[in-house]
Amino acid sequence: MHTVVIGGGIIGLTTAYQLAREGGTVTVVDARATGLGASDVNAGWVVPADALPVPGPGAVLSAMKWMTQPDSPLYIRPSLKPSFISFMLGMFRASNGPSQRAGFEHTLALMADSVRVFDEYRADGIDYELHHRGLLMAFHDDKHMHHHLSYADLTGRHGIAPIKLLGDAVREHEPMLKDEVRGGLFFPKELHLDPRGFTKAMRGKLVEMGVEIVENAPVDGVRIAGGRVTSVSSGMRAFEGDKFLLAAGAWTAPLSRLFGANLPIRPGKGYCVELPPLGLKGATNLYDAKVAVTPLDDRLRLAGTMEFGGLDELVSDVRVNAILRAPESYIRGYEVPALSEVTPLAGMRPLAPDGLPIIGRLPRLSNAYVSGAHSMYGVTLAPATAAAVADLVRNDRVAPVLEPFTPKRFRGGR
Ligand SMILES: Cc1cc2nc3c(=O)[nH]c(=O)nc-3n(C[C@H](O)[C@H](O)[C@H](O)COP(=O)(O)OP(=O)(O)OC[C@H]3O[C@@H](n4cnc5c(N)ncnc54)[C@H](O)[C@@H]3O)c2cc1C
Repeated sequence: MHTVVIGGGIIGLTTAYQLAREGGTVTVVDARATGLGASDVNAGWVVPADALPVPGPGAVLSAMKWMTQPDSPLYIRPSLKPSFISFMLGMFRASNGPSQRAGFEHTLALMADSVRVFDEYRADGIDYELHHRGLLMAFHDDKHMHHHLSYADLTGRHGIAPIKLLGDAVREHEPMLKDEVRGGLFFPKELHLDPRGFTKAMRGKLVEMGVEIVENAPVDGVRIAGGRVTSVSSGMRAFEGDKFLLAAGAWTAPLSRLFGANLPIRPGKGYCVELPPLGLKGATNLYDAKVAVTPLDDRLRLAGTMEFGGLDELVSDVRVNAILRAPESYIRGYEVPALSEVTPLAGMRPLAPDGLPIIGRLPRLSNAYVSGAHSMYGVTLAPATAAAVADLVRNDRVAPVLEPFTPKRFRGGR
């Protein structure tokens, strides 16, 4: 069976690996080099215990408050386009406790195995930087900590509940934190990795396994006959296959229209910058500022902010400056670097209105599938998604863990 995967981000690459490992022939087609989308810009956290869907209680009020502040953690660039308005309405409808809780339960069930598989990848010879040092959430505001603790029953069921660190206990855990940090939650089983190193190593492994990787080939056409996709094309080049998987991150929505669907996936832009190492013990979530701090072997990565706007990777200096300032009130000895000292990158998280991935068969086609909208957790979800999607593509079977993520929950996916 020959599968053509459209999009070589972490979702496309890990699914290609799974399919090839199970004996399939695979071609990955990317618009540019693989691994350059959101998969290059993220914080590299593998954090099932933190994977709450984006819309949650209070999101509407926060979004309205922050709408006028371009340097706020969440910024919505207002637009009157009907697709934008209907997406935002869908997101606001999902911004409540019961929906967030149900979404979190579904996501936890899907990714039960993710943490283990990242170790297996290394054992399979995919050589990348991976750290087992847990995740610390650092809070200025107790209210945020209590919101997270209200999910401890669910994370506890999966054996990944946090340890509560009140007052100075958080500094005993991480001595670099300032006195303004009033408490923390430590999740001991979470991992972090070097995002660029991971996609590079995965690409190398795919080539070694005989997977064809076609770069600088933006897919712009789909040929359909008798309810089946027979090929996709990029300009004059056509790629034939038995099965087709759309995994193009934030670009999945426009591409889905070539397949006769209309999936509501929009970009939630974020940024990363890299600085010299600071000596932090592990991955730290500066929770109130919504900035992720990732200590890698030879550098420190800061990533964060969510911006709803167009499908572009333009960098906003105002928002990068907000990320650069964030650690000042959390980390001792941190000196805010000038913008001119860093090279910021922008990446687009692919988001559905309810904050959950969209995984399943595309409407009215017997051999084309989508795996998208992994929002803030595409790294965390990648291995588990890859295993479930490979099964879906190979056997046209929707495993029970995938049912909540069906495209059919949206009008454009039916
Ligand atoms: C600032 C930030 C921090 C994050 N931190 C984390 C984290 O710590 N942990 C975590 O789990 N997740 C995190 N995420 C989310 C995670 O990065 C994404 O969910 C994930 O990268 C999505 O992967 P993807 O493969 O779907 O999309 P992408 O990585 O964006 O890949 C899509 C690919 O499709 C290609 N493409 C586009 N158009 C076409 C076309 N026409 N034809 C062919 N190919 C095409 C693109 O070139 C690209 O290579 C973060 C995201 C951001 C932005």
